[in-house]
Amino acid sequence: VKFATITLSTERKSDIIDITHRVEEIVVKSGVENGLCLIHAAHATMAIVVNEHESGLLRDIMAKVQHMFPPGAGYSHDYIDDNAHAHLASAFLGSSRIFPVKNGRIVRGTWQHILALELDGPRSRREVVVELLGE
Ligand code: ZN
Repeated sequence: VKFATITLSTERKSDIIDITHRVEEIVVKSGVENGLCLIHAAHATMAIVVNEHESGLLRDIMAKVQHMFPPGAGYSHDYIDDNAHAHLASAFLGSSRIFPVKNGRIVRGTWQHILALELDGPRSRREVVVELLGE
């Protein structure tokens, strides 16, 4: 089992950060040849999704998230903290993804990038954990 942490800072209220190359670097350095790679955002207002890194699509993804989870829609959590929309988006999109690792590389389609979604930024420090299980 190998464990690593990617630290990020985010500059906007909502943001998408492509962490594919940082994850792949961790996998290569780990020496794990075959197994599983877990990518987990250790925060209640972030999500990890997998899809194409194309600027229009990234805008579409965030627009869809904001459409599904609009801020200030009368949520109970907003009475103690004004970020219920971010918690809901994280809860339903999910804060982790798993990839197979084969021959020392994560198995992904050409257009499948690993995208960290900031849902309640900006934040000076965010952590995405990468855990590899294998041999
Ligand atoms: Zn909150």
